[in-house]
Amino acid sequence: MSLLLRNVTLPEGNQADVLLDGALISRIGQGIQGGRVLDLSGYLLLPSLAEPHAHLDKAFTADLVPNPSGDLGGAIKGWIEHRTGLTVEDIYGRAMSAVRKYVAHGVTTLRTHVDIGPGLGLRALEAISAVRASVAAVCEIQIVAFSATPLSGAAGAANRDLLAQALAEGADVAGACPGLDPDPRKAIDLCLDIAAGHGKPVDMHIDEWLHVEPSTMELLADAVIATGFEHGVTASHCVSLGMLPAEHALRVSRKAAAARLSVICLPQTNLYLQGRDHATATPRGLTAVKALREAGVNIAAGADNMQDPFNLLGRGDPLETAALLMAAAHQSAAQALASVTDCARQALGLPVPGIAAGARADLLAIKAGSVREAIASADTNRVVIRAGRLVARTDTRHDLADELTDKGDGHLGRH
Ligand SMILES: [Zn+2]
Repeated sequence: MSLLLRNVTLPEGNQADVLLDGALISRIGQGIQGGRVLDLSGYLLLPSLAEPHAHLDKAFTADLVPNPSGDLGGAIKGWIEHRTGLTVEDIYGRAMSAVRKYVAHGVTTLRTHVDIGPGLGLRALEAISAVRASVAAVCEIQIVAFSATPLSGAAGAANRDLLAQALAEGADVAGACPGLDPDPRKAIDLCLDIAAGHGKPVDMHIDEWLHVEPSTMELLADAVIATGFEHGVTASHCVSLGMLPAEHALRVSRKAAAARLSVICLPQTNLYLQGRDHATATPRGLTAVKALREAGVNIAAGADNMQDPFNLLGRGDPLETAALLMAAAHQSAAQALASVTDCARQALGLPVPGIAAGARADLLAIKAGSVREAIASADTNRVVIRAGRLVARTDTRHDLADELTDKGDGHLGRH
């Protein structure tokens, strides 16, 4: 099966035909013939998008789980109470709704954290594992087993066992939130140790608050360097790094680079959750993106929560995340796009195919003339291709009053 993407704009701005053969891009050039033709005049071709940090098990519970304080503590409290009543079927249904939105927007790779712990056991893992299997041909899903707190001490024994069991039963990555543990360094060591025992990477929720001590990011980097952990480490959030003086943030960032951490910035949820007790000069809750970039750390970005007590907003579009990176972290359009494409794939330990002959055809075509415009407009007219196969297409129609069109015949005109 061949698919010819005719007259599409490449990220560099030039127009070309792109021929897909099987799962791969076979040719890029002018006047190519053959295959089923898809006219993409007016569309920009990008690598398909990646969502490196989601919580599919929590999606679309905003109207069910109250969080009156609107902050992280309120969200955790509300969620822990709510999750005990969740069934596998309920989690599966909401997660599938979230995945549909993601794929329609152009996501073909997604990492989700999945709660495991008291009152929930492994039910969320069971549900999201079923989602992963259902959509495997359309969207590759990685599951992080997000262990409950604490991991350390006698009180953490059951949580440690459950984390090991989750990895044995198919979770791809080990996760934890060491900053909430009574012994953060011990929690980090335990998570790394359990992950290493299964040969799997770790992805931890790191310093998702404004107070700067202790820096579990620095503890994590120290632990990775000390243990030589070699399966891949991702630090998600790293909010308090953004509160440090520039020199201090750069020093910690250099240590993160030495430990080869990837950092995932989660602008929407952290703009939503953090700084509510600051009436003015409200901190943005974003990690120190500039210091991390200067230190050479791989910076990805994700949406985190989707319409749940942690974030009442969210529509499953990484271009929304990219726009927030431009507005709130002052990244360029190219940097913002990279954080939701190539850098996100790198953080997930995946190859970065790019748009080139011989590369795998995981692509998003979006109505836009440039990367900046694609992020700014986040147009809903999109074509999503996974391994050479068309997996989603959205066409929108505007019916406009004559005054807004060039028809002038007194009727609503299609534009
Ligand atoms: Zn998260």
